[in-house]
Amino acid sequence: MKKIGLLFVLSILSITALSISSASAATVFTDITTTHRAYEEIYYLAEGDIPTSDKAYIFSPDAPMTRAHAAAMIGRSIQLSSKSNSNKFSDVPTSNFAYGYINEAVSRGIIFGYNNNTFKPNQTLTRGEMALLISRAFGYQSATTNDAANELMSKGISSGVGKGNFGTTQQMKRGDFAVFLARAINAEFRAGGIKETSSKMYVNVSASDSLNFRKGPGSGYNSTKKFFTGYPVDVYYSVGEWVYAKGDNQVGFFHKSYLSTDQPSIGSTDQYPKEPIDLELPPVKEPLNDILVIVDPGHGAHDPGARGYGFQEKNIVLDVSLRVKKYFQQTPIQVKLTRETDVFLSLDTRAAFASKYKANSFISVHANALNGSANGTETFYYAANNKNVDQSKALATYVHERMLEAWGLRDRGVKPGNYAVLRENTVPSALAEIGFIDNRTDNAYIASATRREQIAKAIFLGTLDYYYHYEKRPEVAALYTKFNTKPSIKHY
Ligand SMILES: [Zn+2]
Repeated sequence: MKKIGLLFVLSILSITALSISSASAATVFTDITTTHRAYEEIYYLAEGDIPTSDKAYIFSPDAPMTRAHAAAMIGRSIQLSSKSNSNKFSDVPTSNFAYGYINEAVSRGIIFGYNNNTFKPNQTLTRGEMALLISRAFGYQSATTNDAANELMSKGISSGVGKGNFGTTQQMKRGDFAVFLARAINAEFRAGGIKETSSKMYVNVSASDSLNFRKGPGSGYNSTKKFFTGYPVDVYYSVGEWVYAKGDNQVGFFHKSYLSTDQPSIGSTDQYPKEPIDLELPPVKEPLNDILVIVDPGHGAHDPGARGYGFQEKNIVLDVSLRVKKYFQQTPIQVKLTRETDVFLSLDTRAAFASKYKANSFISVHANALNGSANGTETFYYAANNKNVDQSKALATYVHERMLEAWGLRDRGVKPGNYAVLRENTVPSALAEIGFIDNRTDNAYIASATRREQIAKAIFLGTLDYYYHYEKRPEVAALYTKFNTKPSIKHY
């Protein structure tokens, strides 16, 4: 977790550097995807490393907002110190994650404790408390809960709960708190836009420097423009040491230290003040959505593949692959199938698919046949002269083990195989032979929709294991919880 003190130092250092600031390693939450009602606000806060949570990568928007989390998120928003020497409360030990923020916020009169030196850190915040907390933290001068509630409503930060009632005693959910906090920080999230009046100020840095104009109050936020000394800007309100301002027809945040009420004078130059420079923003990172998985149902159309007991491989593996797709669609991980209907694709086309879509891994789904006597599950990877041998073997192994766990058919092993879809592939790839379609035992599994759902889930979970263990993506942990399972044993 970043320390606010360090952020402050970085923000000062950053103005001397003309290079574009790198994207922050913002927190990501696997339970907040693009369709969530508070998606924009929560990820806006996350860019500034503002949200706190009890579980890594999980925001829990519907869980109650505790007083400790509220103090911490407010503290991070207005850049309070996370370290404090004054221990004011018997129920907030130094080991409490919000210890510094709570004590600092109390010192500044932003939040208060209860009798007998208690703070009740795990008590749920009410809407009334939220209104007062935001009002004090953002300097609204509201003395009472009613004043604070009215202030928030007039600014478009919060609406009432109906019939002119603010719902002062109602308990806050974490998602709602995040929405109100984002609106308090950045008026672009408010219904009516900026209600505050502005005052003119000027960028005041040395002639050789520039000032970053950021998307939020902190150096974790990307810079959208650079301003040069003497440039006039309209300042609306403060968020801790930062101000929300409009400059060059855009809104954003400046650090207060580099603005002055008088225009700084400067020796003669060709153009003073210099025009701001627009910066290109890196794409916003979401949890795991940088991963694209390709699922390749074997065969198709005039190529039925293996046959047995009235079943054709091409139909079975398409059904399984479509089920795998549905699992991935419940996650931020992107998924594409090489075919979704009964069409023929050449092996070259299949192998080129991953590189065409810049995918990250490839899994081909097949069923076997051999005169009815052979049975079991086997998984292949290409083991010769390929830069992805280790990755492919890991992917094959993780998928294979989940398939054995799901169906419990004979274990024919994880093996090197010289198949074109693997050999010609440019990404880690594996080929799963789920079972023998012409074997009585295996066919009973292949013929059952319930069983096909199980093997699809196994292929999905095996792929997750690969990303969790081999590609070291800890965000996957939350997906195991979602699908009521645990990571596999780590092999690679
Ligand atoms: Zn096949």
